Amino acid sequence: MIGAMRAVGCLLLCATAGCGDEASQPLRLESEHFRYYADEDLPVCRTLLDRMEEHYAAVTPWLGVTLGRGEKIDYHRFGDADSLGETGCEYDDGTVPAGCADGLRIVTTRPLETHELVHAYASLLGRAPSLLEEGLATMLGGIGAAGPVVDASFPIESFFESERFQALEPEPKAEAYGPAAGFSRFLVDRYGREAYLDFYASLAHSASAAEIETAFESSFAEPLAVALEAWRAERPLVESVSTYLYLAECASPALSEDGAELLEEECWQETFPLRVARSFSLADARGAVVRARHAPGASTGVSVIACDGTVHRSLLTYLWPDTGQHELWTDLPAGDYFLKAFAEAVAGADPAVSLDLGPQLITETCTETHERVVPAETGAVAVERWLDPQEPLPESLQLAARLYFDTPRTATFRARAASLTLCRAGCEGEPGAECTRIEPANVDVELESIDVAAGAHAVSVQATPEPFMPVRFTIDLER
Ligand SMILES: [Zn+2]
Repeated sequence: MIGAMRAVGCLLLCATAGCGDEASQPLRLESEHFRYYADEDLPVCRTLLDRMEEHYAAVTPWLGVTLGRGEKIDYHRFGDADSLGETGCEYDDGTVPAGCADGLRIVTTRPLETHELVHAYASLLGRAPSLLEEGLATMLGGIGAAGPVVDASFPIESFFESERFQALEPEPKAEAYGPAAGFSRFLVDRYGREAYLDFYASLAHSASAAEIETAFESSFAEPLAVALEAWRAERPLVESVSTYLYLAECASPALSEDGAELLEEECWQETFPLRVARSFSLADARGAVVRARHAPGASTGVSVIACDGTVHRSLLTYLWPDTGQHELWTDLPAGDYFLKAFAEAVAGADPAVSLDLGPQLITETCTETHERVVPAETGAVAVERWLDPQEPLPESLQLAARLYFDTPRTATFRARAASLTLCRAGCEGEPGAECTRIEPANVDVELESIDVAAGAHAVSVQATPEPFMPVRFTIDLER
């Protein structure tokens, strides 16, 4: 949960009760636009400020702001929520969010919190009403700030005034972030960035509902009520990933052209959930295999997201539950993407992520599918296809992939599907193919383990797609 600090409240608190011990935190890193403070016992990775400078370079031109000469953002990282709460970064009920921003000062428990960075940049535009501040910071702050789906039926118009937004209990307040970002993104798409920023910068933090309505009509030449109605009609329920503007992610360092570059960051060990992003562009549709390796007890998350956020916007997200090396197979249409990964901190961890691009991997009929080798060190393969949420859901969908095992394995299938067919040495119906059919009764169940010989195998799944869910099957592999 992420909150904007009530600036005045904090300053009063600091004056009367002492403001945690952020003043005594040592300066650990410094760059052109940032000073990074953290307690002595916290590990601080030297590449953190490179990531922050990349973020600053991508986001501040969009906002049309720059720090003045010699001005820097002070980033204070704390080891636990109690220390953070002592700075005044807490809700009325005493719960502590992940971070707070007050002008150019950020306090947080996270090594790199992009949501709070956006608050700091946006403070150069002045302080808008809270709901708009949170909408902007969530829209530009990247993934993970709000829930998975934005429901436009949330009555944001009741909370435009800062006082009413701040009076919300923590839970409905957290629920408001997604719709605030969704409406902000709608305004940017409908009226353009300049009109949106004009509206944002024209408002006082304490603006009344009537003042907000007047400013809205002046910036957008349309009444607020009309825009709200259009937003709800056009985007009643959307995936959150479609409401973000991926300025920093899509400007992140590019993967090499064939995509087969290993992502390795020493910081992963120390600074979960430090996220690493790399961008890439595809001139044609390609098959993509994301391979993640991590240490015992740690988890790794990987997403590939389209920069435009409009179609095929969340192609894969997977949290690997076990240790070892795992693969995620998917197909990507032509377009601009970024790959984002995070790794959990575990002593001695050596996490890594790679992306291999090649021929299309997943088709509706087995015979059209390209075969791919599954190396002996792979512990699981997830085959996943996302459906465009804007398109009507088909009643049933066939998903096929061909795998070549270079050693004999024991395979356990998991599928949310009506049936799964595994064939050896060819596709179902082809001469010489030996097929086993499993019917898991249309639930996500773990099927019994099957010994799989070395060589070529084809898997076909008959699935009933569900809204906002990928069609997926997973194969756990043992040697
Ligand atoms: Zn915020």
